[in-house]
Amino acid sequence: MTALQLVQGISNVLFVAIFVLVAIAAYRRRSRTAVDTALFFGALALAVLEGPVLQLLGIPVNAVSTAVAAILVMALPYLMLRLLADFADVPLLVQAATLGGFIASVIVVISGGIPLDPTATLFLIGYFVVVSLWGAFGFIRLARHSSGVTKRRTQAVAAGMGLLGVAVLVAAGSTLSSGLAAFSSGASQVLALLAAISWVLGFAPPAQLRRSWQEPELRAFLGRASTLPRLPTTAAILRQLERGAGESFGARAAIGLYDPDARALRFDNAHGALPADVPEHSRFLASRVFASQRAEFFPDAARAHPEHADAYRAAHVGPVLIAPITAGARRIGVLEAFAAHQPVFSTDDLALVQLLADQAAVVLESRTLIDEAARVRAQEQAAKLKEDFVSAAAHDLKTPITTLLGQAQILELRSAREPGLAQHQPAIGRIVREARRLSALVDDLLDASRIEEGKLEVRREPIDVGAVVRHVAERTRHDKERIVVETREQLTGSFDRRRIEQLVHNLVENGLKYSEEDSQVEVRAWRENALIHISVRDHGIGIPATDLPLVFERFHRAGNVDARRYAGIGLGLYICRGIAQEHGGRIWVESTVGHGSTFHVVLPDTGEGKLN
Ligand code: ADP
Repeated sequence: MTALQLVQGISNVLFVAIFVLVAIAAYRRRSRTAVDTALFFGALALAVLEGPVLQLLGIPVNAVSTAVAAILVMALPYLMLRLLADFADVPLLVQAATLGGFIASVIVVISGGIPLDPTATLFLIGYFVVVSLWGAFGFIRLARHSSGVTKRRTQAVAAGMGLLGVAVLVAAGSTLSSGLAAFSSGASQVLALLAAISWVLGFAPPAQLRRSWQEPELRAFLGRASTLPRLPTTAAILRQLERGAGESFGARAAIGLYDPDARALRFDNAHGALPADVPEHSRFLASRVFASQRAEFFPDAARAHPEHADAYRAAHVGPVLIAPITAGARRIGVLEAFAAHQPVFSTDDLALVQLLADQAAVVLESRTLIDEAARVRAQEQAAKLKEDFVSAAAHDLKTPITTLLGQAQILELRSAREPGLAQHQPAIGRIVREARRLSALVDDLLDASRIEEGKLEVRREPIDVGAVVRHVAERTRHDKERIVVETREQLTGSFDRRRIEQLVHNLVENGLKYSEEDSQVEVRAWRENALIHISVRDHGIGIPATDLPLVFERFHRAGNVDARRYAGIGLGLYICRGIAQEHGGRIWVESTVGHGSTFHVVLPDTGEGKLN
């Protein structure tokens, strides 16, 4: 076997192999592009196989077989143009002229007989070379407008077309000059082999090559991804993600974000075939992938979703790759890559689309966290402003309210003594009560801001906590009979008397406030090792479990509290916790809704407490 025969053999095997591959693909999914590709390579494979098959069967090459081979070869330019028309716009006039040229070639071959006269040969060669070069340029133009792997595949197909045209041109050299025959047939064989290799790369690139073609765009996309969460809007991030994904595939891409309120995937920038809102449980490919949470490849959108086929065709949506965008358990949406024509994607790309979707999930999740952080910061600033305002207002109110209360109390005393004022006594009494309430509220606000700033002062002195508890019960005059106090021993320790009184008072007042008027509130105080325990138990409305961890926070009121029935602003327990903590102790609550609550306070007895 000569080197030339080897080259010819290899290219023939490649042509046949490509035909088998594309024929299988066309059988699996009968799209126009797949069928046209199969027809092109079918004609090529038959043309190259005819000779060897006849030889194998022992049939000598004759005029008929040569004419059939010539017609098969002449069909190639026309089929090539059909293929180009599947991917790009080819003017109808050009398509018609090419078909006309093919028919003319068939007539020339049949009527002229083999061997053909030189004019006929020149016509056939001219037709072949012009159309295949036109086709090659068409594919080159197509490659210029595409990107990523598609660009390289289109370039390979263009190279194949061009090389075939040139191969025929060179082969023609042998018919024109017999001196060149050996060279030109060798060169054309090599060119044909290169054309075959180009087509393999274009139509069925090995997975590894495909990946290396995808790599630059993918790398660029992943490199940019870290900067994306800081773009000004989510819409801008989505556009960038779509662009990056599209470039990696050499196709277009769209992202649909899940909107739980609308129960739909929201596409701002989808291909025309999709509605802006794709219902969550629908036949749309995106919603199917969102439901299954598994990346899927649909070779033909129209076939996969026939009810919507017209819209896909109108929007030039052919093969579609879709992957779910998910962060942990949070289903964010889907990433869709789509193209007008095959063979742009394959099942190999499933892993890639999932990788891009995962990257999109990271970007979008980071964005959510950034937004959340900004929201928390804004909330903190607003809370700080409110705090500053409340504290400033409380400070300013303190003096006039103290004066008001003092004056009202003097009036109250006078009205008791002076008969002329007696008729005003009830009104004056009301003023005193309300002024006291206001004064207590301002005191609470001031205490709360002191605690917030860590400035609650504790003036320790030796006291008997039991006596303090009994004193509070005594002092709570209006409901004295509802309070049951149980303190057995002397509970001396070094504590701030006023603050411990305030703490017990707050708890007892709450116990009375949040229970029925005839139910009891039990206050106990006892010593356990070096700890002093105080508990305040009521049989009232209780606290819902979800509110339990929050009732000690500022301004928090439980969900079962009707503000019209129970007055309050949610500062008492916050102050109680501040006082307990300033004493090195702690406070907690056990409660069942409808059955009551028990507040516990433990204070470490430092051992310094000695009553005088
Ligand atoms: P306020 O009573 O002014 O609302 P507090 O800080 O004293 O504020 O209490 C915070 C919240 O805790 C109350 O609004 C109420 O929901 C709940 N709470 C406090 N004490 C009791 C109690 N004894 N029984 C039921 N709920 C209580």
